[in-house]
Formats: sequence, structure tokens, C-alpha cells
Amino acid sequence: ESPSSLEERNLVWEYMKPSYKNKGSRPKACFVSLVRNEELHNMLESIAQVEKKFNKKFHYPWVFMNEKKFTDEFKREVSQATSGEVEFVLIPEEYWSYPDYIDQNLAADERRKMDADGVVYGESESYRHMCRFQSGFFWQQEALDKYDWYWRVEPGIKLYCNINYDVFQWMQDNEKAYGFTITIHEYMRTIESLWNTVRKWWKKNPEYIAKDNLLEFISEDKGESYNLCHFWSNFEVANLNLWRSPAYRDYFKYLDDTGNFFYERWGDAPVHSIAASLFLPKDSIHYFSDIGYNHIPYDNCPLDKNVFKENECECNPDNDFTFHSYACGVQYYNSQGLTKPNGWEKYNN
Ligand code: GDP
Ligand code: MN
Repeated sequence: ESPSSLEERNLVWEYMKPSYKNKGSRPKACFVSLVRNEELHNMLESIAQVEKKFNKKFHYPWVFMNEKKFTDEFKREVSQATSGEVEFVLIPEEYWSYPDYIDQNLAADERRKMDADGVVYGESESYRHMCRFQSGFFWQQEALDKYDWYWRVEPGIKLYCNINYDVFQWMQDNEKAYGFTITIHEYMRTIESLWNTVRKWWKKNPEYIAKDNLLEFISEDKGESYNLCHFWSNFEVANLNLWRSPAYRDYFKYLDDTGNFFYERWGDAPVHSIAASLFLPKDSIHYFSDIGYNHIPYDNCPLDKNVFKENECECNPDNDFTFHSYACGVQYYNSQGLTKPNGWEKYNN
């Protein structure tokens, strides 16, 4: 390989570029929520938060997905609560079932072992379908074809601050691809073979790795091992074309073929985060330090006093998770070459 062709190695970015031609115009964007009928109450709380703090000014549409039919009550209530168009997707069975190559007895054995080890959702079959769906299939649902951008919203989340600008527009116009609010370490027990699988895939497909990637966020030894850091995927604002890219499709297929979404409990958060960190130029990944956010049990609460005041945040900065040792804010700031805010060390316990 000549150095110049190596320098041009940003294939995923090249693939995504056409979607940025829309710069300056209203982004083709929506909220996406995968949710169960039983979660209606918490979903309405999330919608109220998002509408009050952001969407009442922008009226972006909302796409709800479920592998079971949404009840009339669910549809009626969320339609009333949102200020944009709504769409309801019944997920086809092929995206929420076992591929034929999965040994379901082995999967059940492994679930029992993981449960005995006390792992969160260790025993859960549906959780594994959920993680696989969020990794490989949500972005393939036809309802999203007309969009370039999505904001993932889970039931029961909080937004602590006013968001006075169009987050989608900002992402698009500043050529960002993936935005997050919280970072955290994964449980090793759930992804024991993930990094080795990624490495095998990487060896076969080196052309997909961006030259100015964010590997340093996820590995502290140049890719030898995974440090378990990931973007917490219950909040994501991202360009759908990242997941639609040939690189991500191939990567997901390779991971999925191992069966380890079922035999282990691979989460969509590490799967997305590793892909974003390897495939994207690092300046297209963005930390929303200004978006006050809670998904139980962690907060993102602006440490910048001006940001906090201007946006009338309703959280306690002392509870900000960013620089906690169980989070990965330190790794993120270091990998991006960002200056950590004054006094960050006092959070690092
Ligand atoms: P946690 O955040 O990792 O504790 O997992 P959650 O229970 O919040 O699930 C993640 C997301 O997937 C949430 O938006 C849930 O509403 C959704 N979800 C989880 N399991 C299912 C399921 O079996 N069916 C549907 N339709 N949604 C689910
Ligand atoms: Mn959740």
C-alpha cells in the first residue's frame, strides 16, 4: 500500500458523505423508540421530556417499533403526546427470532450459567433479541428509509436542560456522525469473545478502518485488548448511513454469524461503539456535554456553569457521571485530545 492510498482510507465516511449535501436544509430526521406496550407510562414520560425541552420547537416525527402489535391505547396516547407525525412499526419476525444456525439448547444453557453468575439480564431471551435488533436491524426497517438521522429515546429517560438549538441540524451542518451523552464500561462476562471476533474481522477488512479513528477510546494498548468502554446507546443521535454502510453490514453479519448475541449477551452499545470508533474519523463523533440526561441510574449534568444556567438545567452537577471511574469520560477526552474541565478529578471515584 502506498501512503497516499492509506491516507484516503475513510470508506465509511465516503459512503456517508452524500447525506451531508443536505447541509443548511432541514435534516431528514426522526426519533426512534423500541418499546413494549407495558411501557406506555414511561414512554409518555420520555415523550413529555423530549417535547418540553426540545421538540415543541422543532416537531420532528417519531417512529415506534415493537415485535408485538401496539395496542390502540398505546397508539392513541403517544399520538396525542407528540408534536410531530408518528409511525408504528410491527417488527417482522425474521428480525426478532433465532436464525436457524443457532443451537437453542446451547443458548439456554449459557443463559442459565450467566444467570447463576449474577449477570444483569443474564437469563433473558428477549434482552438478547433486543440487543441484536438494535445492532443489526432497527435501521433496516422501511419506516426509516426516508430519514438520514435518528435520535434514540427509551422509556423513562429524563432531559434536564432546555435544548434551544436543532440537534439534528447541528450534527448535519457540522459533519458529525455519532453523538452520545454517557459513556460506561461493559460487563466482561457478556462479551467475552467480542473483541477477538472484531479483531478477526478487522484483519480481513482493514480497508474499513478510518485512518483518524477513535481506537484509543476503546483500547489502551493499540487494539490488543478492549477496555470495555462504550457509548451508552439508550441515547444516540446518529446518521443512519453509518449502519447502512457496507462496512457496518459486513461487520454485523460477521458478528451475528458467531451466534454470540445469543450464546453470550453482546450488547448493541459495545457493538455500535466499536464500529463508530473504528470506522469514523474521530472528529465526527460528538459528546453532548450540554444535554442534561438521565437513564437510570446515571446522569449527564453540564459541568459548565454557563451552559447549566443558560439552559435552566434541573440536575445536580455533583452527580455527573462523565468522569466517574466506571464511566469512560477520561478515556474519551484523552482519545479526542480534549481538555478536561477544571476539577474533573474530584468526580473520579
Ligand atoms: P436496559 O436499558 O439495558 O436496562 O434495557 P431496557 O429494558 O431499557 O431495554 C432497552 C430498550 O429496548 C428500551 O427502549 C425498551 O423499551 C426496549 N425493549 C427491551 N426489551 C424489549 C422487548 O422485549 N420488546 C420491545 N418491543 N422492546 C423492548
Ligand atoms: Mn433502558
